[in-house]
Amino acid sequence: MTFKIHRGTQEVGGSCVEIWTDTTRIVVDIGMPLVMANGQEFNFKQYEKLSTQELVEQGILPAIDGLYENANSKVDGILISHYHQDHHGFLSYADTSIPVFTGEATKQILEFSEEFFNGKQLENQFQTFAKDRSFSIGDITIRPYWMDHSAFDAYGFLIEADGQRIFYSGDFRGHGRKGKVFKWFLHNAPQNVDYLLMEGTTIGRGRQSFPTEEELEEKFIDVFKSTQEINLINTSAQNIDRIVTIYRACKRTSKLMVVDVYTAAIMKEMASYATIPFPSASFPEIRVMYPYFLSRMIADKIGKEFLYQFQPFKITKEEISERRKEIVFLIRPSMKTDLDRIGKLENGNFIYSMWSGYLKQPKTDSFVNHLRSKGFAFHQIHTSGHADIATLKEMVTAMKPKNLVPIHTFDGDEYKDIFTTVQVKRALDGEMIR
Ligand SMILES: [Zn+2]
Ligand SMILES: [Zn+2]
Repeated sequence: MTFKIHRGTQEVGGSCVEIWTDTTRIVVDIGMPLVMANGQEFNFKQYEKLSTQELVEQGILPAIDGLYENANSKVDGILISHYHQDHHGFLSYADTSIPVFTGEATKQILEFSEEFFNGKQLENQFQTFAKDRSFSIGDITIRPYWMDHSAFDAYGFLIEADGQRIFYSGDFRGHGRKGKVFKWFLHNAPQNVDYLLMEGTTIGRGRQSFPTEEELEEKFIDVFKSTQEINLINTSAQNIDRIVTIYRACKRTSKLMVVDVYTAAIMKEMASYATIPFPSASFPEIRVMYPYFLSRMIADKIGKEFLYQFQPFKITKEEISERRKEIVFLIRPSMKTDLDRIGKLENGNFIYSMWSGYLKQPKTDSFVNHLRSKGFAFHQIHTSGHADIATLKEMVTAMKPKNLVPIHTFDGDEYKDIFTTVQVKRALDGEMIR
């Protein structure tokens, strides 16, 4: 078995690994980069018009034979570890005849997001797998391990062929709402692994441990109680752990949770895979707000039926204004105009519940300043979607791999000083390892 990390040995984002035997070739993740070579934020808009071939030539898309259209001998399969852009963002460039293997909920989110944001259907041939059930692509066997991560349906992969084993960790942590899943993993970690390709997103951010979602729940409650006015929260609709945390904090403080129609739809989709609250008769304390431009876009691109599904749980601007003292409202910078049209929204709390790096984005920055000018108190409540160093060490100790390869990290050089019990193999992007 041979592998090549096309992207990820020197950076977080754009993860892509090619693995092959004499007869079979697979690609594990096909992510969009988060940063450019000069360290600036990667913005795909400036490359959008380029052809697939031009994107490969410029080093934006990975140079993998058989991954794109018109190739003679196609890649045999693509594995997607989870639904974050930096792991699947370039999937639409892959030849649609190549089967794509992913978790059931991940498939759902990918299809939903494509329809929602691009008004299109994904044409890839999806084959979903179940956790801990092995499957084969040619002579390569894959066993998916469910992982605790800020994406709800995330997996690591044990990849076996020719009597050799690679473990790809994907993105993971141990302090989320699926912390028990990680504990299970530690007790059942695969052994005799030749190469562990392990993420290290938080390496370089210090040795501290991160708060759990349960601890965040208490913090939300404290902040909710600190105002007599509305609580606004900016978080990711796809961070289901956080949505559940906020819901629980709302329940415990008798707040009305208001989400927009996009967040409502994600919650509803995910509720078929786990016990997740969503706007419905069973959860009358969750109501749905219809942002103007978003609703118009949905009506045009997806159809009005999509909007009607939450009609019974709709909350109007007037009602939000009237009941503002009892409301926790999940918002985004793109909803600024809608917020301005709701009367009397001022002097409450604004809780930022995402990675602080995004605060530097001009759109978010001006949104925060706008709310501050309306008297909102700014709070940050967040925990990382990725493992702290102690948790990373737990994975290494449980698996005792023959080689540890840094991936999905800006600080791969530090691995050898942190994981001293194993051999660290520092790879380069594009380097072939047999
Ligand atoms: Zn992720
Ligand atoms: Zn990632």
